[in-house]
Amino acid sequence: MYYIGVDVGGTNIATGLISQDGKMITKTSVKTLGDRAPEEITKDIYQTIETIMQETGTPLSEIGGIGMGIPGCFNNDTGVVIETNNMNLSGFNLFEELKRYINKPMMMANDANCAALGEAAYGAAKGYDDVIMITIGTGIGGGFVCNGKVYNGFNGAAMEVGHICIDLKGKKCNCGRVGCWERYASATALIELTKEIMEKNPDSEMHAYVSEHGGEVSGRTAFDCARKGDRAANEVVDTFVYYLGSGIVDLINLFQPAVIIVGGGVSNEGDYLMEKLKNFAKGYSYASTKIPQPEFKKAELGNDAGIIGAGMLLV
Ligand SMILES: [Zn+2]
Repeated sequence: MYYIGVDVGGTNIATGLISQDGKMITKTSVKTLGDRAPEEITKDIYQTIETIMQETGTPLSEIGGIGMGIPGCFNNDTGVVIETNNMNLSGFNLFEELKRYINKPMMMANDANCAALGEAAYGAAKGYDDVIMITIGTGIGGGFVCNGKVYNGFNGAAMEVGHICIDLKGKKCNCGRVGCWERYASATALIELTKEIMEKNPDSEMHAYVSEHGGEVSGRTAFDCARKGDRAANEVVDTFVYYLGSGIVDLINLFQPAVIIVGGGVSNEGDYLMEKLKNFAKGYSYASTKIPQPEFKKAELGNDAGIIGAGMLLV
């Protein structure tokens, strides 16, 4: 039996044929063009499914189900996409419309949850039943695989970890609250912090580094200079690890995952960052000196994680 995984993203609809053990057999994608009529978006979802079935010669009888990763909230009982920011699917019954083309069991999950399930099935968290994945980008996305299954919560809205509060008197967030984790530990926040500390340290090597690297501060600026021993750059890295680690410790205390997968550009800092996070977590999480601590690993599957995880929703 095979499964269809569809990552319905703001930019692309990416669809893969997934084997029962999480291997991606083939994939294809089309532009989402999210402000179109929802019926047109659905038709394109079906067309990507048809393409991969034809390409691989997979008969309908071999398809066990269709899983879809959605950047928003949903109801799997009714098939309605309750809310999504980047495309015209809010309030639309996606299952009903897609069933006009193909009648198979269907399931939705949040895109970040799908990525966590993908990593658990075939990536960095393979072999682990309890997995937290955080993706560090413009904000912070979170996914939770609990006993091998994604944890959706009511409305499919669980694991918006970017908006857990780490400072009750902190910076304003565009969700309306203050002190949200992603205001301190996203890639956006890392760049903001780097600029702040550079301004206070005109002698830092980071200034020359930025001129040599296209003139723009990036998420790599501080990490690259910290490795070379620059004091101000190390201050940026330590502060960032403090903020990132503080949120991770909250997640460990809540869920006790066996492994924490870190995705997004910052995860390319690899073991250098994972070791620092692991040490921080060991210092602060509950009973950390008495019980085994979670592993920290860099995500392995990139954008494929969301497609594979969507496919694995019905396995
Ligand atoms: Zn927020």
